[in-house]
Amino acid sequence: MELKATDFEGKQAWFHLEQLVSFGERYTGSPGNEQAKDYMRSVFQTCSGTLSESRGEMEVTGTEPIQIENIWFRFAPEVKKHRLLLGTHFDTRPWPDREEDESLHRVRGVIGACDGGSGTAILLELATLLSEKSPNIPLDIVMFDAEEPLPKEFIPVGYFLGSRKFVFDRVKEGAISNYGSALVIDVVGGKEGKVGLEQSSLSRSPRWSGRVQGAIDKLDLLSLKPPASYSIWDDHSAFQNAGIPAALLIDYDYPYLDTLQDTLDKCSPDTLRDVGQVLLQVVINHSNNPMK
Ligand SMILES: [Zn+2]
Repeated sequence: MELKATDFEGKQAWFHLEQLVSFGERYTGSPGNEQAKDYMRSVFQTCSGTLSESRGEMEVTGTEPIQIENIWFRFAPEVKKHRLLLGTHFDTRPWPDREEDESLHRVRGVIGACDGGSGTAILLELATLLSEKSPNIPLDIVMFDAEEPLPKEFIPVGYFLGSRKFVFDRVKEGAISNYGSALVIDVVGGKEGKVGLEQSSLSRSPRWSGRVQGAIDKLDLLSLKPPASYSIWDDHSAFQNAGIPAALLIDYDYPYLDTLQDTLDKCSPDTLRDVGQVLLQVVINHSNNPMK
């Protein structure tokens, strides 16, 4: 079946986002985190591909060991070369430590509709769509746990634990070179949000970022913007460090990041749709001509 970017409608993504936020806070180790994992597994179990385990303990000096579990789904797992990996984190920030009122910095209550919810919702719709229309594309979808489980003084060693565990395990088993490219999305659902590549993507993975930017330019959608001047660490960093071309799409100017206001009403189905269409275009380009 011929795929086109507009096949991604965003309605399902919005439904998934509503479900995810209904579980409440989803920080690593919380009941909502467990519910989110069950929910993602239930969606992937309806898709034609392989759901695999990616879990374990991560040690961070100065804290108790952290139990993490990524949700890892593969289309066409038998293809071992030039695979594309799409990823996002599904955990939410345990505390609203960007609230102006510092007395709120150690209370709970971050819902993470945009940060943690939006990327997860988009990748779930994408999985269902590809499963129906084109399940033979060599593609991994990974929902990372523990992107931001600890206070800010642990940046960066206590962050991005799920993606680092995933990359560490693939390196250990000699499978990291199966990936030709990786694209991570984070904070991609804000109302009137503007999502773009950040600088480390361009400087460390220029050819791959150029291809992603090409998909953005081709579609010319309202929720996308030119590459940002800032450079940030995120779940793409572990892939870059392992030598895999990796890029990050993010709206780091989202005003409610790490606050109690990151709720569903600050998100928009239009932004989910636009970002989903960019990802689908990237997948289409990959299926015609994978990164080598
Ligand atoms: Zn995030």
